[in-house]
Amino acid sequence: MNATAAVAAAVVPAAGRGERLGPGAPKALRELGGVPLLVHAVRALARSRAVGLVVVAAPPGGEAEVAALLDSHGLDGKDVRVVAGGATRQESVRLGLAAIPAGTEIVLVHDAARPLVPVDVVDAVAAAVRAGAEAVVPAVPLADTVKRVASATTPGGPEPVLDTPERATLRAVQTPQGFRRDTLHEVHQKALAEEADGALPPVTDDAGLVERYGGQVVVVPGHEEAFKVTRPLDLVLAEAVLARRRASDGF
Ligand code: C5P
Repeated sequence: MNATAAVAAAVVPAAGRGERLGPGAPKALRELGGVPLLVHAVRALARSRAVGLVVVAAPPGGEAEVAALLDSHGLDGKDVRVVAGGATRQESVRLGLAAIPAGTEIVLVHDAARPLVPVDVVDAVAAAVRAGAEAVVPAVPLADTVKRVASATTPGGPEPVLDTPERATLRAVQTPQGFRRDTLHEVHQKALAEEADGALPPVTDDAGLVERYGGQVVVVPGHEEAFKVTRPLDLVLAEAVLARRRASDGF
């Protein structure tokens, strides 16, 4: 493996509307501490020596705006490119992946909506792929017990519980997720072919595609600060985490 190949490229799907966060700009462009979530997320990746290139999948039509935004912020001298994202997260990742130069062996996929992932998590995921894993996810144990439910029999009525998976065996999965580039490319292409007829729903994470086609995914420790900003309360928590970091180390 040569030195260029050993450096990972990262894809950041940032084309979601973020409706659960309430009305306003696309989620990736919402601000945290005066800086868009996307800029935080790209900086978190760029800070890792394991990452050489970051490809951002922007809301379609918003590529120029996103490129200008990223240009106006310091990004540790890393190569950052912007492509148009798609209608689903999966499509956005596939379009980002297509913009990665041939010869790149390791790809990380990181949600724009996880602005505060510590660099140690990015490094650990990349290192696990470099050490031989084909797919790696950072994850944390669950605080809540989880139940599987069926649809309510009457609209708005109570949902019957099906069962309760043993909590100790469950993990909440974060990003960046790391892959051998060939593996990720192959599963996205298979999914594109199979989903064209609407037979399969899109997955909510990339490792899920690797699992679907029989690949082995492994877990490394994630971090509580790598949480996804989804609902308004998550922004409050993210502001608090950022304020604590700024107070403790001038971050
Ligand atoms: O909707 P969710 O919170 O799961 O989105 C996770 C990530 O996927 C976000 O960073 C979002 O911007 C991105 N996404 C995307 N293209 C879409 C939908 C979501 O890039 N069409």
